[in-house]
Amino acid sequence: MLTPDRIVSTVCPFCGVGCNMQLHIKDNFIYHVSAPFDSPVNHGNLCVKGRFGTDFLYHPKRITRPLLRRKPQKPGERTQAFDLEEWREVSWDEALDFVADRLVEIYRNYGPDAMAVYCCAKATNEDNYLLQKLYRALFRTNNVDHCTRLCHAASVVALQMAIGSSAMSNTAAEVIENDVFILTGSNPTENHPIIALQMKAAVRKYGAKLIVVDPRRIEMVDYATLYLPLKPGTDVPVFSAMAHVILKEGLYNREFIEQRTENFEAFAASMEKFTPEVAEEISGVPRHLIIEAARMYATARNAAIYWALGIPESTHGTANALSLINLALLTGHIGRRGTGLNPLRGQNNVQGASDMGAMPWHYPGYQRVDHEENAQRWERLWNVEPGGLNRRRGLTTTEILSAVGPHGVRALYIMGENPMMSEPDLNHTRQKMSELEFLVAQDLFINESGAFADVFLPAVSWAEKDGTFTNTDRRVQRVRRAIPPRGQSRADWEILCDLAKRIERKLGRRQSAYWDYSHPAEIMEEIRRGVPEYGGITYERLDREGGLQTPVWDEKHPGTPYLFAETFPRGRGKFHPLDYVPNAEMPDEEYPLVLSTGRVLEHWHGGTMTRHSWVDDLYPEPLVEIHPHDASTLGIEDGDAVRVTSRRASIVLRARVTEKTNRGVVFIPFHFHEAAANLLTHDQLDPLAKIPEYKAAVVRITKARPEELAGRPAPQPRGRI
Ligand code: SF4
Repeated sequence: MLTPDRIVSTVCPFCGVGCNMQLHIKDNFIYHVSAPFDSPVNHGNLCVKGRFGTDFLYHPKRITRPLLRRKPQKPGERTQAFDLEEWREVSWDEALDFVADRLVEIYRNYGPDAMAVYCCAKATNEDNYLLQKLYRALFRTNNVDHCTRLCHAASVVALQMAIGSSAMSNTAAEVIENDVFILTGSNPTENHPIIALQMKAAVRKYGAKLIVVDPRRIEMVDYATLYLPLKPGTDVPVFSAMAHVILKEGLYNREFIEQRTENFEAFAASMEKFTPEVAEEISGVPRHLIIEAARMYATARNAAIYWALGIPESTHGTANALSLINLALLTGHIGRRGTGLNPLRGQNNVQGASDMGAMPWHYPGYQRVDHEENAQRWERLWNVEPGGLNRRRGLTTTEILSAVGPHGVRALYIMGENPMMSEPDLNHTRQKMSELEFLVAQDLFINESGAFADVFLPAVSWAEKDGTFTNTDRRVQRVRRAIPPRGQSRADWEILCDLAKRIERKLGRRQSAYWDYSHPAEIMEEIRRGVPEYGGITYERLDREGGLQTPVWDEKHPGTPYLFAETFPRGRGKFHPLDYVPNAEMPDEEYPLVLSTGRVLEHWHGGTMTRHSWVDDLYPEPLVEIHPHDASTLGIEDGDAVRVTSRRASIVLRARVTEKTNRGVVFIPFHFHEAAANLLTHDQLDPLAKIPEYKAAVVRITKARPEELAGRPAPQPRGRI
């Protein structure tokens, strides 16, 4: 047994649960990862990714020196370069001067609308704060976004419309205080495994009743009192029919509605049409289950709702989320411990990146860019001349790529994201990436997007830098530098400060005092001056007290485990009348199956980290899950090569015949470039949140030749650790 030189406490770099972990280090090598038993987040537990998946930082393909493309890339002819022969290693000075020159040249020639940036939900709060500041303060654009647009944007919009706050209202571990909880559009055993453990304990140990509403028969169904297997995209009818039953049977909370809500009459009138019979016809859920679920939720002492991407990733995602919020307002199941509305955030720091203003409509702290007083406030903080900041909302991720061209976006900076895996309709994304005039990638590996870049800036991993992440239940936690950076890689915040100083010199602006940070703790000092919810957060407090849950108004404030005890940020909670809108694509004879996409336990997002880790061996190839009935109709057996075709593209992968998916629905994880699920999805957007519909493209499946799977591993039973 090795004796470590040191053990460093930090936070997992994968999902939004934000598990605390300890890195055991010998000779500057992380040889073991453990979890502290006294962590309020994970109580000594880690899932397979946290425990065994962090070795990606030692992968030989990691880039540790700045790179420039040997052959200049022209718009429309830009190609991907995975081969290092196509790049040349350069010094940091040469790389950053080149980036600054090209960005300033394009900004000078074409103005702020030609500039755009993808921030990163895997990077720290401090990294994201600086990158959005760089683009807003120096290039005067709000074309700033990140992958929250592709996951919970509709939840954010709906929650802001209804209550004025978009975060989870509860602490995740509070689930054991629920008598009843609804889980919908979420597969926590694969996506939030440690929260799934707490949910299982809530049911088995503390006697909570669980209602699962989902088109897939996920593992949590085994723990459920009720399972409502709805057809994809029929959330509004099902949850509105529950509201219909609660209204009809007088199970609503009159006192709460009178004292804390508005627009009840209009909402109640709009629910009349959603009878359980109508909902059954649209959703396929038997009416008696809808009635039973409504009674169970409404009559509970403490009830809460948990959801993930199955709700927002839809062309009517905002309405889906509103249908859940309406239920909480109707029953008063919000504002007390063990009650609330909980969108489970995906990436480790997607909550923090959103808090830091890595979005096109908001400065840090969700302060709207089109409100004059907000703009003036940030101009003072950033030493920008009065009127200098752009008051127009910027473009979202999908809109940025659609706008690429001579009259739109010309230069894109990507920090840690991989739109070539995560955007919908990837053939369209590929075309747009190729049309860029200039592209910078800042990452650990040359992924599918970085391969299009002119310049590659090697960043460090989470274990090689200091900072903070904010997890799904608003807990700001310290990330600590445990080992030195590999090669010449640098922390994102250091790269950005160095670059910003070069850009402002070229622009002739004088703000250099604002880029001279010697440690991320100083960046947090600036953040807390501008974002009231982070007002009481200092590194010294985080080191002394552990994580702090926002809002933390001042240095004496203890943090906020659950929200809305007295009031909502917008004052009264607002009910929203709803109508049923079908999915943008509906099954027909040519495309009879509905494709849902998502994650699996062993992998994370575009796979940049987990596909360079040992855990890749546990789930080494893309699979399409198909129900035994559909498989038998199509003559497909488990392990067969199949072709999945949508209106946009085809991919070939192996079939996994399983009852985990329901009849008429197939599921493909989106981590695999060999058969990228997002080649099949479409880019129709929710009109309010601008989020694409990842959960409901229609497809057909046919048998393929086994040779078409060339290079893929032989089929094997799926392992679990
Ligand atoms: Fe990391 Fe999430 Fe697994 Fe926890 S549950 S170890 S945060 S991936």
